[in-house]
Amino acid sequence: MALISVRVVERPRRTFAMQIYLVEVWKGLAITFRHLFVNLYRHLLRRPNASVTIQYPEDPAVLGKRARTRHRLLKRDDGAPRCTACLLCETICPAKCIRITAENAPDVLVEKRAKTFQIDLGMCVYCGYCVEACPVDAIHMDADDVAVSRYSRKDMIWNMAELMGDKPKLPSASTAD
Ligand code: SF4
Ligand code: SF4
Repeated sequence: MALISVRVVERPRRTFAMQIYLVEVWKGLAITFRHLFVNLYRHLLRRPNASVTIQYPEDPAVLGKRARTRHRLLKRDDGAPRCTACLLCETICPAKCIRITAENAPDVLVEKRAKTFQIDLGMCVYCGYCVEACPVDAIHMDADDVAVSRYSRKDMIWNMAELMGDKPKLPSASTAD
């Protein structure tokens, strides 16, 4: 008979001070007020590490270096899409917002290529899984474009030419969904 090892984890003992909550509440408030006054002090002295509210969209959004922004499809040296239509990004996407159709590539070493490639940015959760999954580094999320909202759901869908930067994303003639 196989022996099963069981590890008993003791519950931490709650002291009287913990049970009446007041001490814990004051500890939490102390942290909140510490952040408030430290940030106020930095703000008054115009220190660069002060938290500030950006008046977006009048002021441009300040993006971190590693911010995930709108997707971009990369090209080969000959201008053809780097994507080999392996469908890994479509498969891993938790929002199911990538749609790819494949066709044979003229280059036998590439085998397949994407015939159509669409991302519905209205459904995307910007998790970055598609970028992580791509085996040929064909998709990036570094277009530095966060103003992707449109008036219709249809306009939130970006196609291959738009994602490769060959064609600007223009609003469709009809705004009906
Ligand atoms: S970022 Fe995430 S949700 Fe958006 S297309 Fe890629 S895998 Fe899908
Ligand atoms: S994972 Fe990369 S190569 Fe595969 S379909 Fe997506 S973009 Fe194309």
